[in-house]
Amino acid sequence: MPNRISGGPDLPQQRRVVTDIPGPASRERAARRRRLVADGVGTTLPVFIEAAGGGVLRDVDGNSLIDLASGIAVTGVGNAAPEVADRVAAQARLFTHTCFMVTSYDGYVDVCEQLAELTPGAHAKKSVLLNSGAEAVENAIKIARTFTGRDAVVVFDHAYHGRTNLTMAMTAKNMPYKQGFGPFAAEVHRAPVSYRFRDDLSGVEAAEQAIDRIERQVGSGNVACVVIEPILGEGGFIVPAEGFLPRLADWARESGVVFVADEIQTGFCRTGDWFACDHEGVVPDLITTAKGIAGGLPLAAVTGRAEIMDSVHGGGLGGTYGGNPVACAAALGAIEVMRSRDLNSAARRLGELMVGRLREIAHEHPAIGDIRGRGAMIAVELVRDDGRTPDPARAAAVSKHCHAQGVLTLTCGSYGNVLRFLPPLVISEDLLAEAMDVLADAFTTTA
Ligand code: PLP
Repeated sequence: MPNRISGGPDLPQQRRVVTDIPGPASRERAARRRRLVADGVGTTLPVFIEAAGGGVLRDVDGNSLIDLASGIAVTGVGNAAPEVADRVAAQARLFTHTCFMVTSYDGYVDVCEQLAELTPGAHAKKSVLLNSGAEAVENAIKIARTFTGRDAVVVFDHAYHGRTNLTMAMTAKNMPYKQGFGPFAAEVHRAPVSYRFRDDLSGVEAAEQAIDRIERQVGSGNVACVVIEPILGEGGFIVPAEGFLPRLADWARESGVVFVADEIQTGFCRTGDWFACDHEGVVPDLITTAKGIAGGLPLAAVTGRAEIMDSVHGGGLGGTYGGNPVACAAALGAIEVMRSRDLNSAARRLGELMVGRLREIAHEHPAIGDIRGRGAMIAVELVRDDGRTPDPARAAAVSKHCHAQGVLTLTCGSYGNVLRFLPPLVISEDLLAEAMDVLADAFTTTA
């Protein structure tokens, strides 16, 4: 039977709560889900969605939720954006797959051209396309190891790089990402990151501390690459102090270490720049992207200096579905929206709106120990009365209240005490302001 409900920007842009959340229709489906879907697959809010677009998600009970998640920083261009949906439909009618390693098609090369143009640095760049963020990170490490002939990989405290074996080793947080899943890949070493709210170091001092740790415990001559999120995502939207990333990048260059920026969460206008590295003019050797690149379809990439990318032997990179033509069509549509609607400026405006309102809320509620982030990637870290001790229970309570009132929020952080806000970059300012009002009310109610 044809589905007569359509999503996209035409979906009424409003918050509307007509049942308990989750409502009866979602609860019924959740019971079916429990029977059929593995328990290990989590859910933030157990509603089932039937349509989404702009800044809202509509569930099967008819509730319209304000979306502050974007499917974890994916649908920056909005859900079911016409520029994405139309290209997907057109491509799906032409052909859905050949496997790029078997026969080529333009969409893949077009996406690589966009990546070469948009990622930081004016040097010659090449890309490989993949399916998921974790797969991109894995491939960046394969490339860095081949190029340098070295084994060691350096990652940072609070890092998140994925759920495959190598990326689990790179991810910092044990529960739920690693518990019981070892043994993990070897030659992954962790260094301290700059975390302004919890250390007193300038960015350069924090970088020197990290470099000293690497030099003493690993030896730069053994290091193939450092991999860092320019703003740490799952770890709590930690923004390294100014100077940290440039100093680290300089050290990597001097030491023959490949500098890999994991921009899977921060990329594609999320932070108000095409990439978060742009903010301080940092030019990574390799950059991993995924999430926001394709408006919701699975696509990921490693893009980097041509000579590094080309160090891998023919056939060494790839995968059956990597750079699938439908996903590439989606990416080209999504990038078109980012350009035509200037989503970098939009992200900056949304960020200003959120930070302004969050400062007012923090004034009333000392539980907000820190407000941080950049562009439309903003978070608050919640603490107990001493102003330091993480308060994950309060974060969960505030989030739960928001959910009941029709605002989809996410938590994150090594201690689970960070509320993060990742609205679609096409959300209206009125709707976002309304979500902030609900958040303010959640802080008052849970005080
Ligand atoms: N790297 C970063 C910075 C991420 O935020 C994520 C996902 O949240 C990943 C890697 C893994 O991406 P995926 O879930 O697509 O494998």
